Amino acid sequence: MQIDQQHTNSLISHLECPNCGNTYNHQELHTVCENPDCKSSLFARYNLSPGVIKKENLAALPPTMWRYRQVLPTKNPEHIITLGEGFTPILPLTNLDYLGENEVFWKDESGNPTGSFKSRGQSTAISKAFELGVKTVCIPSAGNAAGAMAAYCARAGLEAHVFMPKETPQIFKDECRLYGANLTEIDGNIKDCADKATKEGEENGWFPVFTLKEPYRLEGKKIMGYEIAEQFGWTLPDVILYPTGGGTGLLGIWKAFEEMEALGWIDSKRPKMVSVQATCCDGITQAFHHHKQHSEYVDNGFTIANGLRVPKPYADQYILQVLRKSKGNALTVTDKEMESGMKEIASKEGLLFCPEGAALWQAFKNLKKTNWISPGEKVLLMNTGSGYKYLENIEVEG
Ligand SMILES: *Cc1c(COP(=O)(O)O)cnc(C)c1O
Ligand SMILES: [Zn+2]
Repeated sequence: MQIDQQHTNSLISHLECPNCGNTYNHQELHTVCENPDCKSSLFARYNLSPGVIKKENLAALPPTMWRYRQVLPTKNPEHIITLGEGFTPILPLTNLDYLGENEVFWKDESGNPTGSFKSRGQSTAISKAFELGVKTVCIPSAGNAAGAMAAYCARAGLEAHVFMPKETPQIFKDECRLYGANLTEIDGNIKDCADKATKEGEENGWFPVFTLKEPYRLEGKKIMGYEIAEQFGWTLPDVILYPTGGGTGLLGIWKAFEEMEALGWIDSKRPKMVSVQATCCDGITQAFHHHKQHSEYVDNGFTIANGLRVPKPYADQYILQVLRKSKGNALTVTDKEMESGMKEIASKEGLLFCPEGAALWQAFKNLKKTNWISPGEKVLLMNTGSGYKYLENIEVEG
């Protein structure tokens, strides 16, 4: 089927602050809300109404996340920087114990370019930056976000500066260098990296692509929500488990559900959203159970799940809102549990998942044990990346 250009153009209208309501022009560079009392993350808004995009036309579009380009922010299709990200498989769990009376699925993001779902967010962020004339970008990252940004910058011809904790496994550093990024190793955590990146970025005029301080990484990650609906035949699962670092994917999936309802594609029924954190960085879990609107800064040191080493997510208030609105939950998993989860999933299912993804399997078992997940509920676990990049910190018995 032929889809004419008019029907594949972006429907983006503006950027909006979900906190104070300020709006911003999407054809100018923006980071966070400029209201000095606010400084919230900004969300992209689109002209959506029932029928404006026909989901029946999707099948004729390429099997990448850019099949949804009408709800992605790049105006000119020639500015799209893509490496084939997205449209990842949803696989049923077949051999693991505890399945009992639940259908359980993985959405497996490990096949994305650079081995994680971070490629989705960097594809949209770097495409939009490229469209708006940015030449140099910078990022603080404890792992996958940096490698993905470096790869898309290489493709787009942008200069990339990465600030990474020294203790990050070597492979995450090597990939940045191989993709041609300038890497600065910092003796500290992600917060220290962010401070350094902010300082150097301001001094040198680099555009900061920080988690939820840059509006468009959220847009790429939200497409996971569209794909979940499409791949399940436009009915959503009952429960979704998500490994929360900065919370971009969790917020993105939820945003996709709201947009699809505006498009008339789904009804108002939503999955229960569950946040899973590493025990060392459990600020969201604590705030959720103590009925707080914001999380505290919590960092108790190293975790093998570097994607979860986020002491205080910038968009913490919105993460907590989604968990509550969806009647969801928040829990933590230890490194030991993640490591044994990785081994269990690999040996039973033939899938070598990242510790962040494996954490969800352990969280699922806990939620089954306490009957928070009921028999008959359909459950989706988001495996956010490949395990191959993490083996340096995994003990493999001979
Ligand atoms: C970054 C990352 C996460 C956390 O993602 P957010 O959307 O920022 O919460 C989870 N898993 C992996 C593998 C990651 O790289
Ligand atoms: Zn604001």
